[in-house]
Amino acid sequence: MFFEEEWADRVDKLNEECGVFGIYAPGKDVAQLTYFGLFALQHRGQEGCGMAVSDGKDIDFYKNLGLVAEVFKQDILNNLKGHIAVGHTRYSTTGANSEVNTQPIVARYLQGQIALVHNGNLVNAGDLRTRLATNGSVFQTTIDTEVILNLIARHSQNELEESLMKAMIDLRGSYAVVVMNENKLYAMRDPFGNRPLCIGKLDGGYAVASESCALDAVGAKFLRDVLPGEIITIDEEGLHSLHSFVKGEDALCIFEYVYFARPDSNIDGVNVNKARRNMGHELAQEVIVDADIVIPVPDSGTVAAIGYAEASGIPFAQGILKNRYAGRTFIQPTQDLRELMVKLKLSPIEEEISGKKIAVVDDSIVRGTTSKKLVQLLRDRGAKEIHFLVTSPPVKYPCYYGIDTSNRDTLIAVQKDLEGIKEYIGVDSLHYLSLEGLVRAVGGERGFCAACMNGNYPMGLPDDKELGKDSLERKGQ
Ligand code: SF4
Repeated sequence: MFFEEEWADRVDKLNEECGVFGIYAPGKDVAQLTYFGLFALQHRGQEGCGMAVSDGKDIDFYKNLGLVAEVFKQDILNNLKGHIAVGHTRYSTTGANSEVNTQPIVARYLQGQIALVHNGNLVNAGDLRTRLATNGSVFQTTIDTEVILNLIARHSQNELEESLMKAMIDLRGSYAVVVMNENKLYAMRDPFGNRPLCIGKLDGGYAVASESCALDAVGAKFLRDVLPGEIITIDEEGLHSLHSFVKGEDALCIFEYVYFARPDSNIDGVNVNKARRNMGHELAQEVIVDADIVIPVPDSGTVAAIGYAEASGIPFAQGILKNRYAGRTFIQPTQDLRELMVKLKLSPIEEEISGKKIAVVDDSIVRGTTSKKLVQLLRDRGAKEIHFLVTSPPVKYPCYYGIDTSNRDTLIAVQKDLEGIKEYIGVDSLHYLSLEGLVRAVGGERGFCAACMNGNYPMGLPDDKELGKDSLERKGQ
C-alpha cells in the first residue's frame, strides 16, 4: 500500500518541504504548544512530523510518518515533559519518505544532547557528506539535516552558538534551522534568507517558527523575523543575537507568497494574503479578459481572484468548490484515478458557470495536468469561454533550495510555449503574471529568489548539477 495524500493539489503544484518550530517557555506545557505550532504548519509538510522536548537534563523525542493529529496522541504528548522543544513537519525532497528521515534529528555529542530541525536544501550537501564521512562521521539518514548536525558536532569543543557560527561558514544553500540542547534554544537562517523564520514572544518565553501563523497558534506575539545570517540564542537570560560574517544577497523564496505560506502569515514584513491580493491587482494591470465572472481555483487562488475582480471590475464568484475531506487516499493512483481525484477535490458549481465567460485564477501551472482536468470539468458544466490567469510566471527551472519541482522534463513550460500550454489545458486564453508584476505585488524593495522562473540561482547550483541537464527528482538520494 502506498501512502499518498493531498493528491489533487500535489499532482500539479510545487511542494513545500518542511515547517520548523521551537519554543522556550519555562512553566508551560511545551509539548502541547509545539503540537499546536506544528498543526498550524501542517501545510508545509504532511508526510511526517516529530518533536523533541528537554526538561533541562534530558532530551526526549517522538516522531513518525503521518499528519500531526495522527502522530501525536494525548498520551504521547503527556510523556514529553520539559520547558524547551523543537518540532518539524516534513515533506521529503531529499531522502526517501521513511521514518528514519523524519525530524528532529536527536544525537549525543561531546557537549551532551542536541536536537535539530531544518527546512531547505543545501547545495553542497554531497561534498560535505563526503568530507565528513572521510573524517569518520557516520550517517543514519539520507537528509541534509544530518549533515548540518555533523558539521556542528565537528566544532563540539565550542559553545553550541559558536559551533553554529562555524558550521555556517561551510554550509551553502537554503536553511532555516532550529536547534536545542538540554538548556537552550537556537535558531539560524541562511545568509540569503531563502526560507522564512520568525520569532514570537510568549509570557515568560519565546517561540520561533517558519511562519507567523504558528506563533499565533501558540499565543505568541510576533516579534520579528530572524535576519539572514543571524543566529538567535534563547535561554534563561532572554534572547541574544549573533550575525555571521558570511554574507549573501536577499533571496527569500518568492513562491512563499504565491503558494506555500498560509495567507494569515507575515513573512519579512509582508502579509501573504495582501501580497496575493496585490497579485490579482497586478494581473489586472497586465490584462483584462472579456469575462462575465472571475472564479478562483481554491484555496490559494482565492485571494488573488478577489484582487483581480476588484481591479478589473468583473464580478467575483465562488465557481469551484474544494472538498476539504478528499485530501487523503491510501491508493497507488493510476492515471485514471488521478483524474478522478481532481474531480473529487475540485467540483465546479454549474449554476455559477453555465453559459458564462469565465476568468479562472490560479497561483501556478507546474505540469498542467490538474489545470487541464479542471478546465474540462468547467466545460462539462457549461462554461462558454475559459480565460486562465496565473499569478506567477511560468515555472521553467528546477528548484534546488527545498521545493519539490520533480523532473524538469515534466514542467509544462519547458515542454511547450504559451500557445502550446493554452492548447494543452484547453482554454480560450492564457495569461501569466510577469515577474516584474509579481515582485511589485510582494513589495519589491528587497531581493527575492525566483530561480524556478528566471533561472538565476542566487545560492548557486548543487555541485553535481548543470543547469538544464539534470533530473530534479532528488527523492531517495
Ligand atoms: S527556485 Fe523557486 S521555489 Fe525554489 S526557492 Fe527559488 S523561488 Fe522558491
